[in-house]
Amino acid sequence: MYMKDYDVAVVGAGPVGSTFARYMAEKGFNVAILEKKKEIGVPLQCAGLLGKKIKKVNVLPDEFIINPVHGAFLHSPEDTTLTVAKDKPEAYVLDRVGYDKFLAESAADSGVDIFLNHRVEKVDSLNGNLHFKNSKTTKISADVLVGADGHSSMMSRSFNHPPESFQAAQYLVDVGEKRFQRDFVHLYVDSRISPGFLWTIPLSETTARIGLFADASYQQITSVLNELIKKRPELHGATILKKYHGVIPKQDPQKKLVNDRVILLGDAASQVKPTTGGGLIMGFTCAEIASRAVSKALESENISFLNDYPKEFDDRFRKELKVQLSVHKIFKSLNNDDLEYMFRKLKEEGAEDIISQYGDMDTQSPLIKEMLRRGILFSILPKMLYRGISALWK
Ligand SMILES: Cc1cc2nc3c(=O)[nH]c(=O)nc-3n(C[C@H](O)[C@H](O)[C@H](O)COP(=O)(O)OP(=O)(O)OC[C@H]3O[C@@H](n4cnc5c(N)ncnc54)[C@H](O)[C@@H]3O)c2cc1C
Repeated sequence: MYMKDYDVAVVGAGPVGSTFARYMAEKGFNVAILEKKKEIGVPLQCAGLLGKKIKKVNVLPDEFIINPVHGAFLHSPEDTTLTVAKDKPEAYVLDRVGYDKFLAESAADSGVDIFLNHRVEKVDSLNGNLHFKNSKTTKISADVLVGADGHSSMMSRSFNHPPESFQAAQYLVDVGEKRFQRDFVHLYVDSRISPGFLWTIPLSETTARIGLFADASYQQITSVLNELIKKRPELHGATILKKYHGVIPKQDPQKKLVNDRVILLGDAASQVKPTTGGGLIMGFTCAEIASRAVSKALESENISFLNDYPKEFDDRFRKELKVQLSVHKIFKSLNNDDLEYMFRKLKEEGAEDIISQYGDMDTQSPLIKEMLRRGILFSILPKMLYRGISALWK
């Protein structure tokens, strides 16, 4: 009889792959992770801003929290500023590189075999084989293969269209004097980059991660980022210490998550919030959902149970994703005059308090419902867009 090397082989030791692998090892399965890099977590490709829900969906030791975040300054193109705040931390700024390494080490501690420097080149989804080039091992086989190999996923491309993506750029900057409130982030809108936006996420009173994502070329977005440094008083004269470039997959409702023995997770499955491009909380939640479907398939020796995973994914996320995609579409259609008008109206209508009360980094529908209930969206959005968004709850 032909023996499989592993019950489960995960491609990618990113945060989502490592978390999924740990769940499977804790359930008693024999698990391997294949990672193309020599060192996990580098280069940094994340703003590291995670909603408070992170503590519900994964372990997060305090040592990886750089700052708790209590609020945000939301800036319009002409700097009408909405200040939203909460008494308790709404989010955390993380040491993402340290956290990625910690999640991989936790997987290894649970019994997962991690193979660094192993780039998967080819997948055989029917027989459960992964093939490598330039490493001692040339092939690994498993009953279930997991593509957690990020935004450009080779595993996804083996049965989906190539993904569409946003480009992201980020700098680590030092402004040379105490200008930042550590527990408040700045978010800036500008129709040139909508539906993306810009951010300043303080790491200390003098240093911050500043960045943006947009549907534009890397060259275009870096010029918008350089402009931000010149324009914003809190960033004026900033020294750039490091530059990063990243890619954020666009949410794709048509993406297939299961094919034969293969499932996709995290950025590979385009499991990102359309409104913010954040992927960790949804990725971790899906790692847990998928771990139950994969266990059932392995225990019953019936891979059709893998399909429980996309079914539960749809039940949990489809409605919220539809709302977020609509918000995205509306945001994209507004020019800077519209955005300015909206910010001024929102301020007049007392929206800072409502956002402070109902705003949630990960789920936007309660806030939108409340704004609809109070008639605020009716007064700020053109009629056609208002009809579109209110129809979501009919
Ligand atoms: C600039 C920027 C800012 C962001 N900010 C935030 C934020 O503030 N909050 C948030 O929640 N999210 C944020 N994100 C998104 C977040 O970083 C991703 O959603 C997250 O990293 C996805 O994790 P993952 O494990 O699915 O994939 P990844 O972290 O991309 O890991 C994939 C792994 O697979 C490996 N791999 C790829 N191909 C192969 C192969 N063929 N063989 C073997 N290994 C392979 C890669 O080397 C990598 O280690 C941001 C993204 C960017 C670009």
